Amino acid sequence: MDRNEILNWIFNNEIIDLSINLNKSMRTYPTVENPEFKKLHITSTDGFQDTKICLNTHTGTHIDAPSHMIDGGLDISETAITSLIGRAIILNLSYKKRKEEITKEDLMNFHEQIEKNDMIILYTGWTNNYDRDFYSTDYPYLDISGATYLSSQKIKFVGTDGVSIAGFTKDTNDNNIHIFKTHRLLLERKIYIGEELNTTQVRFQEQESFIEGILIALPIKIIDGDAGWSRIIFIKS
Ligand SMILES: [Zn+2]
Repeated sequence: MDRNEILNWIFNNEIIDLSINLNKSMRTYPTVENPEFKKLHITSTDGFQDTKICLNTHTGTHIDAPSHMIDGGLDISETAITSLIGRAIILNLSYKKRKEEITKEDLMNFHEQIEKNDMIILYTGWTNNYDRDFYSTDYPYLDISGATYLSSQKIKFVGTDGVSIAGFTKDTNDNNIHIFKTHRLLLERKIYIGEELNTTQVRFQEQESFIEGILIALPIKIIDGDAGWSRIIFIKS
């Protein structure tokens, strides 16, 4: 394939932007402080504009680095670009309800499609609830059986339109063990996790249960970063 053929291929296919806008009123994980955006200069008086941002690394569309939950794990600046570009499948899990688990059983429906080194996107349509008060707490999430299954399939990335790959609970009796377990199962096997993908532009045809394409999910490089905000794009093919 020469250069023009590659460009034609890219631009003749649908490109879906899976990223949420960064702004001062964006939603955060319940335990995370609100973001701050401060204009340091404005064009009308200073001739130029720049902004200071105070934003948790896990707010908005981002990739979790292994160091998020593994002591001594790779940080986000050490991520190989090839780990985050690849063959991808968006799985239609839109039947999942508030706070419902995505289990091995759900994922087994796509067993024929999932290959080694795939990048899997769990579509629940959750971004459509962005303005609802339960957005940050009630998203469907991957349970331990689902994370174990995906690990066994040796995929390299799993992304969700939920706020986290694991479910949120206020109950701290169990120290939220399931949250750690789900993340670690994936991160220990260098399966990168994409969280809070914006799926408002994803459209399934009637009866369509998955969409195939190529994913480019590149986080910004932060030394010691446990995550990185990312512009994530899916090229349908
Ligand atoms: Zn995260």
